[in-house]
Amino acid sequence: MPASRPILEEQWVEICRLLIEELGEETYLSWIQPLKPIDIQGASILFSVPSLFMKNWISTHYSSAILKHWNAVVPHLKKIDFSIQVESATAIKEGGGEQQVSDLGNVEEKDLCEVSSLDSRFTFDNFVVGKPNELAYAAAYRTAESDIPSFNPLFLYGGVGLGKTHLMHSIAWLIKNRAPHKRIIYVSAEKFMHQFIRSVRYKNTDSFKDLFRSVDVLMIDDVQFIGGKDTTQEEFFHTFNALVDNNRQVIVSADKSPSDLEKVEERLKSRLGWGLVADIHPTTYELRLGILQAKAAKLSVRIPDEVLEFLALKISSNVRELEGALNRVAAHATLIGRAVDLDAAQNLLKDLLRSSERHITIEEVQRRVCEYYSIKMLDLLSSKRIKNLARSRQVAIYLSKNLTTKSLADIGKKFGGRDHTTVLHAVRKIQELIEEDKEIENDVGVLRRALDGSRM
Ligand code: ADP
Ligand code: MG
Repeated sequence: MPASRPILEEQWVEICRLLIEELGEETYLSWIQPLKPIDIQGASILFSVPSLFMKNWISTHYSSAILKHWNAVVPHLKKIDFSIQVESATAIKEGGGEQQVSDLGNVEEKDLCEVSSLDSRFTFDNFVVGKPNELAYAAAYRTAESDIPSFNPLFLYGGVGLGKTHLMHSIAWLIKNRAPHKRIIYVSAEKFMHQFIRSVRYKNTDSFKDLFRSVDVLMIDDVQFIGGKDTTQEEFFHTFNALVDNNRQVIVSADKSPSDLEKVEERLKSRLGWGLVADIHPTTYELRLGILQAKAAKLSVRIPDEVLEFLALKISSNVRELEGALNRVAAHATLIGRAVDLDAAQNLLKDLLRSSERHITIEEVQRRVCEYYSIKMLDLLSSKRIKNLARSRQVAIYLSKNLTTKSLADIGKKFGGRDHTTVLHAVRKIQELIEEDKEIENDVGVLRRALDGSRM
């Protein structure tokens, strides 16, 4: 015999008392109170829950506690089911009841956040820290650790495949473990836009707003995507303000700094720069080697050091490609049942290495550098020694050495017939300056990203 609703509700009141004791008041208020028991059918009890997000969260975190207490009263219960119901103003007016929201009109919370969309490998533990990313790492870690926002927003930016998403997920994981009651939304800017447009189309913007403005932590990945999308920007701006005003943490990533975002309203750019802006620089050889060593240590096959060094040296564009190369070598080693030596690795990655050669040419580097510093190609290739010119030339040589597979002699030839010691001197000089001079560091970073990016 199914229990009638008043009896269910009576039982629920009692169980809630026990749950408050077990879980604490805050968790109770956030997660348990919004639940309403509807019916018992066989061995399942059905609850209504206001959103899919809550459904997922509660079923992973609190189902067993709820069942345990309920079993003291109804021993044969085995399972909890949820029905997502949103109270709507009209439904309450008409009958005081609730209204099942159709799939079409509902904001799809399942996609928005949360465990399912977080990559389990993207944790702080798995993130290798080096000079290029130490600031971003420290800022991300601090943000995940703090109950009250230290920087709001935290703005992480850097080129493709340098670990922005990895850091965002790491933050979400840490918060999830440390403060499970916190509501986190992690979403790409693209998805944010699609959900928003959808909610407009289905006249459901209120639930969209409620959802995004009710979270403790909002993470928007790849925010550069909203460039030129005016209404989405507007909505994001208001969501952003509402959250920051309420001391909720906002974390944003992008491929550029706030002020460099294209087709983004000034007020939003300036707001995005209010907290901490941390950039992830292109990887150095040391960091690449560190990442490879860390990843290789987790593989079941052994990859010789010289192969790791070779990869770190040759694949400098981004970490994603580095991983791809390592995986290819590892797959091969598994297949042949022994370690891959340097020759074999070189052979295996021929196409990858060639493609970087094919895509970035010395001429392209020179063209970009001229554009960037507004100088003439003739001057770049000349032997003029005016300071600015000489510096730009050194930057171009440095980038040619780092982004192409050409030898020092080849590079010298393309730079007006300089010999290889001059080329080497330029490479070393810029390497030094990158450590000391913020401006040079920035120039090289921007140029490198422009060149790397143009290969995609
Ligand atoms: P982005 O979002 O900046 O384009 P991702 O975060 O997706 O880049 O990183 C690309 C890949 O490189 C991921 O597999 C990520 O785990 C890995 N990766 C990037 N940086 C690091 C790092 N410092 N340590 C370990 N893995 C990294
Ligand atoms: Mg990313």
